[in-house]
Amino acid sequence: MMSAARRRQVRTRALCAVFALAVVTAAAAQPRVDLVLVDGTVIAVDGRDTVAQAIAIGGATIVAVGTSAEIRALAGADVRVIDLAGKSVMPTLISTHVHPGFQKGVTYVAANYTRETVMNDLDRALYFGISVVQSQGIERGDVLYRIRTEQAAGTLSGAQLLVAGRGIGAPNAGPGAAAYAGIAYEINAEAEARRAVEELAARDVDIVKIWVDDRNGRAASLSPALYRAVIAAAHERDLRVNAHVFYHADAEGLVAAGIDGLVHLVRDLEMSDALVADIVERNVYVNANLSSPRRATQVGTPPWLTSTDPMLRLLTESVAPGELAKMAAVFLQRDPQTAAAARERYATLERSLAKLSAAGAKLVLGADTGVEDHLFGLAEHLELQAMVDAGMTPAQVLVAATSRAAEYLDLDDRGSLVPGKRADLLVLDASPLDDIVNTRRISRLFIAGVEIDRVALRAQIKD
Ligand SMILES: [Zn+2]
Repeated sequence: MMSAARRRQVRTRALCAVFALAVVTAAAAQPRVDLVLVDGTVIAVDGRDTVAQAIAIGGATIVAVGTSAEIRALAGADVRVIDLAGKSVMPTLISTHVHPGFQKGVTYVAANYTRETVMNDLDRALYFGISVVQSQGIERGDVLYRIRTEQAAGTLSGAQLLVAGRGIGAPNAGPGAAAYAGIAYEINAEAEARRAVEELAARDVDIVKIWVDDRNGRAASLSPALYRAVIAAAHERDLRVNAHVFYHADAEGLVAAGIDGLVHLVRDLEMSDALVADIVERNVYVNANLSSPRRATQVGTPPWLTSTDPMLRLLTESVAPGELAKMAAVFLQRDPQTAAAARERYATLERSLAKLSAAGAKLVLGADTGVEDHLFGLAEHLELQAMVDAGMTPAQVLVAATSRAAEYLDLDDRGSLVPGKRADLLVLDASPLDDIVNTRRISRLFIAGVEIDRVALRAQIKD
């Protein structure tokens, strides 16, 4: 059976082949253009730091990127022209580490896990400019699989959902919060590891998730023999494996064993030069995942809950007042000593991220979105800022959030504004290259060349 990743690639290659044919015959017939956006800042995230002024779209696909004069020349009389008036355009965000379905208003419990709650999360993600989210294994029953199927058929809204199914860990060592109990596979033997992967492959998951730590001594770690068995079984089926990790020693073992992604930085130590070098050498993708632990460092109202930050507008437009008040109260109640200890731990994470970035590691946007009060959309934009604050440039962070994340998730037709890719565009009032906070100044949003009605989308989001 063809895996989801393989199917996505085949589908994308077929599209690319069609497009290549169109380019070959372009001398005779330019690909159709029906929308152009001109006179702005078009951040292509194409691997060459291209910044253009304008972009042309035909159907769902980007046809050309260039100067306003070049793009206007492609527009016939019946082509829709949008004057960007200095606004910026970038690819929509791709978020590789989310947990939908648990938060509903001020509650965070297992009983919230319904189709309605998950769709609310996906709609809010889209409202914040995120076009794809990869769920990371805290997935009960068929809810997410069904949503994925309906989205593929074009009958459901929201950010596109990719699934991991049930993640895999040692007994009692899976995801921590009470709301997650009993969801992960709990394995003790290599045969159980293989059986779990077989089941997941049969469900056509997009990625396999494992938890590899002892949960602060609460449980046994997933042993190297067991995670190697998971990785081997998954790779045989063309599935990638990514790992929740805490300890430096576990990360070393996982990288040596051929893990595809680490969805956290190690948290007991600063990453050693040797580990960083191995991560780069073996092409392991890494989530910074800074924004969730960063919350514990904050005492008093954080900047993003004040009116000078564009985040507050996005939140007040899409989150119920009671829920916002509950989120704000946590910061006011935190005692300074606890926060100071958290800041020390957090500084270690920042140093590891700076090292990884300087070494050229493949960093991708992942924020543990959907853990309590770390809402869809909010988490991602906070993560981008946290990565910049840790020493990455805004341009590097945009790569992590778009083209590199698309590469990690095998979405060959997304992540960059270049001819042939899908026209998923985020239009911003100001350039995120000047200030990463500008990713929150969302003006308009296009998915596959179609403008999303953000007012209608907002009305659909419940709490
Ligand atoms: Zn997670």
